Amino acid sequence: MHPTNELVLASSNPGKIREFGQLFADLGLRVRPQSDFGVVDVEETGLTFVENALLKAREASRISGLPALADDSGLEVDALAGKPGIYSARYAGEPKSDERNNAKLLEELAEITGKARSGRYWCALVYLRHADDPVPLMVQRSWEGQILEAPLGEGGFGYDPLFWLPELGKSVAQLDAEEKNRLSHRGRALLAMATALRDALAR
Ligand code: IMP
Repeated sequence: MHPTNELVLASSNPGKIREFGQLFADLGLRVRPQSDFGVVDVEETGLTFVENALLKAREASRISGLPALADDSGLEVDALAGKPGIYSARYAGEPKSDERNNAKLLEELAEITGKARSGRYWCALVYLRHADDPVPLMVQRSWEGQILEAPLGEGGFGYDPLFWLPELGKSVAQLDAEEKNRLSHRGRALLAMATALRDALAR
């Protein structure tokens, strides 16, 4: 572990920095945003979530000189052969727009009904001890659901108003933040990463 017990988070999203910071404080790790070191977002040229997370973590670690944590996430829809996948944020093109992405998703699924509208969120998390670390810690977690035929709920972000959780009888946009963090692909990946890190630090 780095002597300062700090790590850099390869994200500029304040919500993510807060969530990750709380969880890692318990491990005695201080999470610093990549903006503290002038790191800007890298081009996501990978073909998988985990490759993109690695690219982000490597760049943040290279510039900051600290261990780095990065995530990459998206929505996989079965009837669309896995789309929007790694292109979830920019599904309807640039500039990124949740509203246009959701409209496009509904349009592409117009002919699909019932259980065939299945899909899942994915979150890949990667931790590098240094930029050339040959053994990254990696976890991936998913969250199963169905794509609704119309938006429901006001909370969350991205595809949440269209993502239905059959076992709860709610869309993700109808969950409060605490409930979403407990159940979500990202929340569970974070917890798994905290466990993997605790084990790695104890070695
Ligand atoms: P990123 O990993 O922050 O770049 O997110 C990728 C994209 O996947 C987001 O812009 C959303 O479109 C989608 N996404 C990932 N996680 C979620 C989620 O929890 N709710 C809704 N959309 C999500």
